[in-house]
Amino acid sequence: MSQTSRLPGLYKQPVEERLATVATASDLTDEEQAVLRGAMGLQTDTADHMIENVVGIHSLPLGVATNFLVNGRDVLVPMAIEEPSVVAGASFAARLARAGGGFHTSSTPSHMIGQMQVLDVPNPHVARFELMEQKERLLELANQSDPLIIKLGGGARDIEVRVIDESPAGPMLVVHLIYDTLDAMGANTVNTAAEALTPSVEEITGGRVLLRILSNLADRRLARARCLVPASALTFESDGRTFEGREVVGRIVEAYAFAAADPYRATTHNKGIMNGVDAVVIATGNDWRAIEAGAHAYAARNGSYIPLSQWERTPDGDLVGTLEMPMAVGIVGGATRVHPLPKVALKIMGVQTARELAEIIVAVGLAQNLAAVRALATEGIQRGHMSLHARQVAIAAGATGDEIESVAAQLVKERTIRLDRAQEILSQRVSESTSQ
Ligand code: NAD
Repeated sequence: MSQTSRLPGLYKQPVEERLATVATASDLTDEEQAVLRGAMGLQTDTADHMIENVVGIHSLPLGVATNFLVNGRDVLVPMAIEEPSVVAGASFAARLARAGGGFHTSSTPSHMIGQMQVLDVPNPHVARFELMEQKERLLELANQSDPLIIKLGGGARDIEVRVIDESPAGPMLVVHLIYDTLDAMGANTVNTAAEALTPSVEEITGGRVLLRILSNLADRRLARARCLVPASALTFESDGRTFEGREVVGRIVEAYAFAAADPYRATTHNKGIMNGVDAVVIATGNDWRAIEAGAHAYAARNGSYIPLSQWERTPDGDLVGTLEMPMAVGIVGGATRVHPLPKVALKIMGVQTARELAEIIVAVGLAQNLAAVRALATEGIQRGHMSLHARQVAIAAGATGDEIESVAAQLVKERTIRLDRAQEILSQRVSESTSQ
């Protein structure tokens, strides 16, 4: 990214012009631009090697969120998502955070957990100690399965063993292999290493190893983002009413309190975070089911389901937000280097490591959360949503080309964003044009 991510007016440009602006900012080649247009995107012959029984390609809109400043670096963020308002919301909130210096992020190393389930262990507590005594040998063994990742500085880091005294299948031992997967998401790498330990773990414990699989509760692989939004940046007018920044801060903090106290609200609060997170995870070819599973398990880690982010007021009356969550994403492995789009998405972000990607994703999640909570706590979510939603309704009713904007505008004017009304408007127009 050679320029600022502040690209005012980008949203008003036609698609080709917008693509040219992003291509200039991110030094995209003609070929990379063709990938974004879809002309050189994923083809069925490559897709046929990715999954089974391929009959076609499923595509999604790819938008670019603007205004992100992450650890002082301007970042344009590609987002693949079908839901209107998400890209606009992220860009808007990133501009608010920018007024306070942008997002500050950090992350742990890429430590994944590979689980081994050991059954029929004669003396589970003794076996636990015996496994710990053999830790170095087990780590060495785990490191034999992927020489490349070891050469790059990753590999097995630790062995942890728990005894589960009671389960529907009786007592069992659970062995955790902690493994640094560096720039890979790491599922295959960790699963292979855990499988390699099977004979040794059975020999040491006298038990029977059943499952060997990574845990998607990736709580050793956390990414964090925080931001400060000056109260002054939150002042705005809506329908002739002025919302003062300090009042908006108070409302956002109260809205967060609702999520902190009620799992029904916390679920939707977190869904708003995942709107931003998933869109970048999908754009970069990562496993969004793994991220979703990890996020919600982490939100429930203390026994009740709570919001992943927090919003507080500073002594000066400004707003501060924090978000910490598991973020097992890679820039190598999986689909990231097979599908042509993720490579371009990573280039647009200027990302060099998986941790850097994870941190940007969490910043986007925090921005998305801010956009949703600010709207909900002030003018309501539907106002901003309406015109974008109306366009989708117009398309669903059969509008094409210029009709989309004009039918959507009429729906908004009438405050009736309904499919049946959009169909009526369209058929009225058809009969008017045929009678002329
Ligand atoms: P992968 O199998 O392609 O492994 C990554 C490989 O990249 C490693 O073998 C490593 O040697 C190599 N590599 C090169 N440079 C590297 C670098 N800088 N850092 C790290 N590795 C480097 O991919 P993976 O990440 O092990 O597995 C991800 C895939 O596994 C995803 O497609 C995911 O959907 C799938 N998966 C997920 C689950 C789950 O989440 N429960 C279970 C099974 C499989």
